[in-house]
Amino acid sequence: MRTWSKLIVTYTKPLVAKLTKPRTYTHTEASQSVSKAYITPVTPKEAFGDLATRDLLRGLVSLALARTPGVATYGGKFLESIHRSGPRILKDFVDGIVRRTVFGHFCAGETLDECERNTQHLRRLGVKCLFDYAAEREPGTVLSEEDLRKEEAAKEYAAELEIETIRRACQLGKGDFACIKITALAVIEHLEKLNAMIIKDWKKSADKEASIRGYSVDPELSFDFEKLEIFKSHFSDEELRILRNDVFRIQRLCALAAESRVPILIDAEHYCLQDAIEYIAMGMQKRYNTPQESYVFTTIQCYLKDSERREKLVTRIAEQFGFRLGLKLVRGAYLHYEREYASQRNIESPVWNTIEETHRSYNTIASREIARVSQGKTSLILATHNLESIRNAIKNIEQLNMRHDNEHFHFGQLYSMADATTASLRKAGFQVVKYIPFGPLEEVIPYLSRRLLENQDILGSTSVDMSYFYKELMRRITRK
Ligand SMILES: Cc1cc2nc3c(=O)[nH]c(=O)nc-3n(C[C@H](O)[C@H](O)[C@H](O)COP(=O)(O)OP(=O)(O)OC[C@H]3O[C@@H](n4cnc5c(N)ncnc54)[C@H](O)[C@@H]3O)c2cc1C
Repeated sequence: MRTWSKLIVTYTKPLVAKLTKPRTYTHTEASQSVSKAYITPVTPKEAFGDLATRDLLRGLVSLALARTPGVATYGGKFLESIHRSGPRILKDFVDGIVRRTVFGHFCAGETLDECERNTQHLRRLGVKCLFDYAAEREPGTVLSEEDLRKEEAAKEYAAELEIETIRRACQLGKGDFACIKITALAVIEHLEKLNAMIIKDWKKSADKEASIRGYSVDPELSFDFEKLEIFKSHFSDEELRILRNDVFRIQRLCALAAESRVPILIDAEHYCLQDAIEYIAMGMQKRYNTPQESYVFTTIQCYLKDSERREKLVTRIAEQFGFRLGLKLVRGAYLHYEREYASQRNIESPVWNTIEETHRSYNTIASREIARVSQGKTSLILATHNLESIRNAIKNIEQLNMRHDNEHFHFGQLYSMADATTASLRKAGFQVVKYIPFGPLEEVIPYLSRRLLENQDILGSTSVDMSYFYKELMRRITRK
């Protein structure tokens, strides 16, 4: 037995070393050793000792697949087209493979019950969970009346699931969060229209700073659309009725979240919807956040050239209405989509041209908002797997003498990504929240496509994950 295990280690090591070698831009090793000064890395056993061997193997295969040329770029599109128009037999065959690999790895299941079962190992580490029904819609869809009726049922279904998620989080009482995607709850066509209206209004103003002063389309964030002239001139009565209902549906969820003391995070999505999403999110914050507590969070994507403008806008609104800002900071998940969208329309890309600019923007806003946490003005979730950003944040926190377990500060990572970092942060006493996506396979295809793309070009964090999986597997084989 010992000889066999030695042989396995000897022959698999070079292959895994090749697979886990960081691919694109990387300062991973440097940042890892620096971050060691701030957080103690966990051992593979501490991070993954609880996982079944089957799950470790699946993790390795899925991440290797993500790094196989072509799979990340075309995998999602292939899956979508099979689901749209492929023969049933091929669809069942492909779904079978996807379920056993990337779906099983990046999603915690198809239902909430499966999610709860598959996240026990995270709970044992003291990680907070955030179950996310990962259905979403892409902009550019014009709906017929028939489609609108179907959409209505889909939105109600998404809202019911969210209510169930909030209730469970409240019953468990483990400080979990909830999260929503506005595109799963409102008609995209209306959001696009609302977005265009907000931007047109800002551009009309002679005041260059207009866009950070607030929303002159609805200065009180009243959502009283039928009474606001500008809304009446841009939307038909029927569209306004639907928009009102959609916003009311979102409001019902935020009200329940605030009442249950389960903070709800509103995700950032495509750029052409983001001003509309932010307007709705800030209106909800005005209603449910208090000067002490944030129950509703908005999200800023730092890969956007205007991310600092967005930060100014949301902090000003929070100050104007006197509530504690709830903010989740991400780099942004739609990079490839945004670039393609801009180049097809021959417009300037809203996304920074280089990753260094995105890093700079992320770290600058993060430092400023950590300072605001220490002043009692913001509740912050730093959603990132980037070790350099995590290191910077910890440095800031220590300079400000903030407690690691400050209740208004969390790190956030995605399910099955940077799990070793998640465990290390918990070990160092930080609060960490893990995004746990779930939903039927056909609904989560856009989410899976993004994870494949991200794990291809993520800053070496995939390599760290793979080497941890491998080391834990080898530990089990050699029975250390
Ligand atoms: C808890 C949580 C919640 C999230 N919520 C959202 C959300 O609401 N909306 C959303 O969009 N995303 C969301 N994400 C996804 C998030 O945007 C990605 O996970 C993130 O971009 C990965 O980056 P990173 O910070 O881990 O760092 P890294 O892996 O270091 O950076 C990779 C990121 O840098 C950016 N980038 C890469 N190449 C370039 C380039 N050439 N030029 C400019 N920028 C580049 C991209 O944003 C890319 O994803 C969430 C993630 C987590 C963990």
